[in-house]
Amino acid sequence: MPNRHRRPEPVLTYACHGCATTGQAATRLIHPVSRRTLLRGMAGLALAARYAPAAAQSLGPAFSYPMGISGQALGDGLIVRHGYACENTIVQTGWLHTAEDWYRTNGAETGGSRVYTVGAGEVVFAGYDYPGLVVIVEHAPDLFSMYGHLDYAVAVELGQVVDRGQLIGTVLTQIGRRVPSHLHFEMRNFFINPVVNGENPSHGVHCGVNCPPGPGYWPTSAPEHPTAIGWRNPSHVINGRAFAGGVPPRAEVVVAELAPAAVDLWSAPATEPGAEVSGSLAVRPGERFRLLNVSAGPEASAETSANGYQVWYEIQFKVGERTWVQAAVPSLTDTGADGRPSAVVLAFLPDVRSA
Ligand SMILES: [Zn+2]
Repeated sequence: MPNRHRRPEPVLTYACHGCATTGQAATRLIHPVSRRTLLRGMAGLALAARYAPAAAQSLGPAFSYPMGISGQALGDGLIVRHGYACENTIVQTGWLHTAEDWYRTNGAETGGSRVYTVGAGEVVFAGYDYPGLVVIVEHAPDLFSMYGHLDYAVAVELGQVVDRGQLIGTVLTQIGRRVPSHLHFEMRNFFINPVVNGENPSHGVHCGVNCPPGPGYWPTSAPEHPTAIGWRNPSHVINGRAFAGGVPPRAEVVVAELAPAAVDLWSAPATEPGAEVSGSLAVRPGERFRLLNVSAGPEASAETSANGYQVWYEIQFKVGERTWVQAAVPSLTDTGADGRPSAVVLAFLPDVRSA
């Protein structure tokens, strides 16, 4: 039985459709390898066969969260300890995180947790030791999702077309390291950006020049916010695009494990002028409500703490009564050096089950 945690030989594998139209084609084929090479050294073949693509869900969302516990709503039992453009004082004080770090809650081991594609697309990179493998999926020429710290046996191959919610691998178990096991999850508008992970990186890099994974952090002191470079707030992208064509009639949300015992009822998302609280509602994990509307903050969020997260759902909380509730709540579970929240608790989740 192969050791799933054995490090593979270094692989740098990528193909990028969007790059060909943005003048970055020259960076694509520096380390081309065949699919066979990609899989060699990973205990991937048997495992990959076990990972069948998720069934297409015609009424499902276009985008959904990247991690889940089998059988539960995607995102349930999980917390984002270091959100987008937040400081991670465990390892990178003075740097803004360009991703969301997803963990299991209540001290449960995150290693082995299942990771899913957030949207349909094509696998344009699978390789590198982050530690753990990195997979990048191209959803559009200007939209990529990146999944870091995966087990060496990823379940997808370079060039594979994937559905939303398709299992792509599991989180690498990292015991005894400064940072516990977690998923590093980015969304960004670039595959290779010369000043980030291309010819001339301005700041730290993980794997050198022309290496798609990129640094994962951007200096707080840099003149540009990570958003100006091309990273995006992942939860805003996912929620803003989930039901871009309108929430289907029977969509529901589930109260998540970490939801507070009672939530404020708002007349509108709190960021809208005139929004006010009209009361509160006691909720319990697993409770379900009809989902009527979704409001997500800008994908190009310019904030520098979890206070920048603005994900709101309009729900029907009793017959004929509708209200807005905050779905992604800033949390002081982790903070930046200045005391502002870095963590994000998901209180309500679209009822999209993990495969
Ligand atoms: Zn991270």
